[in-house]
Amino acid sequence: MRSVKMMRANLRNGVRQCSIEGCVKPTRPYTLLCSMHYLRKWRHGSPRVRKTSENYNHPLRPRWWAMVERCTKPYSPSWRNYGGRGIKVCKRWLKFENFLRDMVGFAPGMSLDRVDNCGDYRPENVRWATRSQQASNTRKTRWITHNGQRLPLREWAKICGIQGKTLWSRIYQCGWSVERALTEPLRTWPSKVSA
Ligand SMILES: [Zn+2]
Repeated sequence: MRSVKMMRANLRNGVRQCSIEGCVKPTRPYTLLCSMHYLRKWRHGSPRVRKTSENYNHPLRPRWWAMVERCTKPYSPSWRNYGGRGIKVCKRWLKFENFLRDMVGFAPGMSLDRVDNCGDYRPENVRWATRSQQASNTRKTRWITHNGQRLPLREWAKICGIQGKTLWSRIYQCGWSVERALTEPLRTWPSKVSA
């Protein structure tokens, strides 16, 4: 893998060479891969994989490759948030077969979720999660501690039967204490019938 700097220089100079080591073919437009490697990537999840590989068309292969790519390939658009932040993939998982063996329990619609958001991709730190589970584990999550329990704001809102944005504005806009924000009932307006 040649460096990003070198690739950028090549692009500036009009030289567009496949980013796979040892491949000298010109790239497809708007990609960093030649036609052959581009096709391999989209068919098999990885530009290096040949069709003879045992799991070449496994449905999870593209998910695995996306994980490896954003952590190890500076040309990936997501590199900034993964490899660039120091998040790595454990050595064992650089092989797809090992990843497959460790990560059982996949259902359609699930995505890879790291338990510790700053931790690496390794068997103890990764699970398959549904979208809403994962949404509460991003860096933007507001954590609230109440009665010794630390939960995301969204979870507290569900528990108290308040809308998430109401709870948020109570704490961060109105400056209420956590205690009051979680326990005070919603304001109800007198209805016309009872008046
Ligand atoms: Zn190539």
